[in-house]
Amino acid sequence: MSSRPSPALPPALSPAHTVLNDVFGYEQFRGPQQAIVEHVIAGGDALVLMPTGGGKSLCYQVPAIVRQQQGRGVTIVISPLIALMHDQVGALHEAGVDAAFLNSTLSYEETQDVELRLQTGDITLLYAAPERLNTPRFLGLLDSLYDGGHLSLFAIDEAHCVSQWGHDFRPEYRALTLLHERYPRVPRIALTATADDLTRADIIERLQLEDARLFISSFDRPNIRYRIEEKKDVTTQLLRFIEREHAGEAGVVYCQSRKRVEELANTLSDAGITALPYHAGLDTKVRQKNQDRFLREEGIVMVATIAFGMGIDKPDVRFVAHVDMPKNIEGYYQETGRAGRDGLNADAWMAYGLNDVVNQRRMIDESPAGEEFKQALRGKLDALLALAEATDCRRVRLLAYFGEQSTPCGNCDNCLNPPAVWDATDAARKLLSTIYRVNQASGISFGTGHIMDILRGKKTEKVAQFGHEKISTFGIGADLTEPQLRGVLRQLIATGALGLQKVMLDSGHSFDTLCLTEGSRAVLKGEVPVQLRESVSSAPAKRTRTRKGTGSAPPAAAANLGPDAQVRFINLKAWRAEVAREHNLPAYVIFHDATLAAIAERNPGTLDDLQGISGMGAKKLEAYGADVLRVVRAG
Ligand code: ADP
Ligand code: ZN
Repeated sequence: MSSRPSPALPPALSPAHTVLNDVFGYEQFRGPQQAIVEHVIAGGDALVLMPTGGGKSLCYQVPAIVRQQQGRGVTIVISPLIALMHDQVGALHEAGVDAAFLNSTLSYEETQDVELRLQTGDITLLYAAPERLNTPRFLGLLDSLYDGGHLSLFAIDEAHCVSQWGHDFRPEYRALTLLHERYPRVPRIALTATADDLTRADIIERLQLEDARLFISSFDRPNIRYRIEEKKDVTTQLLRFIEREHAGEAGVVYCQSRKRVEELANTLSDAGITALPYHAGLDTKVRQKNQDRFLREEGIVMVATIAFGMGIDKPDVRFVAHVDMPKNIEGYYQETGRAGRDGLNADAWMAYGLNDVVNQRRMIDESPAGEEFKQALRGKLDALLALAEATDCRRVRLLAYFGEQSTPCGNCDNCLNPPAVWDATDAARKLLSTIYRVNQASGISFGTGHIMDILRGKKTEKVAQFGHEKISTFGIGADLTEPQLRGVLRQLIATGALGLQKVMLDSGHSFDTLCLTEGSRAVLKGEVPVQLRESVSSAPAKRTRTRKGTGSAPPAAAANLGPDAQVRFINLKAWRAEVAREHNLPAYVIFHDATLAAIAERNPGTLDDLQGISGMGAKKLEAYGADVLRVVRAG
């Protein structure tokens, strides 16, 4: 007899890994997912900071399923995303998980039905809006589940909403403190994609997560290319950007005001782009309809205020554009993070100009907040301004803001096209001394246009009216172009070396005037060099189709398929669209593009051949396997 050793058995999979394979059809946990999942299954509290697209949902969904299997009952997911709960629950149903939601969109009967299923233990994950926690009825339900030992876990999604330092503060989130006080034996996992130090500390304090384990992933999104352009004619710039680089692709354009949203959505539509508006002033039904179209159709551009986007899990958003500057880096990073969740190339594009700086500064000054709060807001704005003015790697600065060290990325505008820089120290001194003299001579302050006229030696009516041609610096900036001067002004205001002062007119209107600040002195003395990027009307390099191994432009998932497989892919997509319509769900909830591409490539003949394809869980195999084979065969 041979004494060959029997082949080693593969190590038994943990319950969590089994759920990952069977329910979600994924082979491996990503990054810190496994550690998080094990910790929570064991009953630990966790605070998870992971960028958008990092895979936060699995961090509570897998523990919810495993703990339910262990007889511990239901997981309550607290989420502010009422408009998305239907799709989130639908995605779980597709994977064969018992899930439900409770929010204001349900009828009385539907609510009762969910409550009943909750009591009979038929629900693994319940999504609920935070305001539910203020209702005695819901608390009564939780109480009885808790007393019976059937309250398994609380998952607090979008946890930054609890903090006033976050950019999405929701007062209802403050009610979440009661979870720990009222249900001390139930573990909690709080998750967010955005939190600087201040916000993070605030979340921990507000949610009493002092003893929770902190899991921080890298915040890098390597497939997103950050670009910030000088604002000239922003509508034309945006149109050029979309038409040249993202024709027919899904994207989001962020604007500051509702009016601007409407205007821009119209302009884009007139230019033949399928663009829809979204802002809080629109009727709820219109908003929901536009959001559904964005999620369900291909190639829609959403023009929106920041009211849009939280929780949007559409994987193939190819660009996020800002035509107005956000308030701070968290907002900017959160919004841009909605691009490229599928890991394929995506652009974060922003146009930024003097008016953005002025507007943002003014909004802080005029807000009714206390001085300490305003100071914090100014600090956050300054960090974003520094990013916009930067001539070095944008990503290094972004990541540094979130406490991460990195090296130049090779995938931002400054890395790809290092900007030419000119020494504006002298121009800055001329500008500041002109402002000083003019304000001294007149006893009042003036706006940017007038100051630039004086510097450039223009004899306007206003110059004559105030006798400003007699100022000794009149015309000393004649060698500078207007864009150059605007650049100097912008940077001086951005860095705080120049201040804004509001002047009220008798008519009730007001405007911003320029005044010197503490920070002006060092610049005036020439102690602080002022370096400015050369103003270029950049025609961006056309993106090459593959880069850094991250894939290529869409339909990127299918880019490497042979001709026959391409046909199968197209047929599968058509079939998926039908199923998605029938189920009233976005197509990517049924199968991701990547899953369809893998099927097309494998060209399966039997159900067995479909096993192990990423995204093909047991339930989906059972529900759709035969159909998929039929579509493949027909092709
Ligand atoms: P987040 O909520 O952090 O923005 P999601 O939870 O929506 O991210 O996950 C982003 C995408 O990555 C989803 O499409 C999800 O299915 C996929 N994903 C998450 N974890 C894994 C994994 N371990 N293996 C494969 N795909 C994963
Ligand atoms: Zn870079």
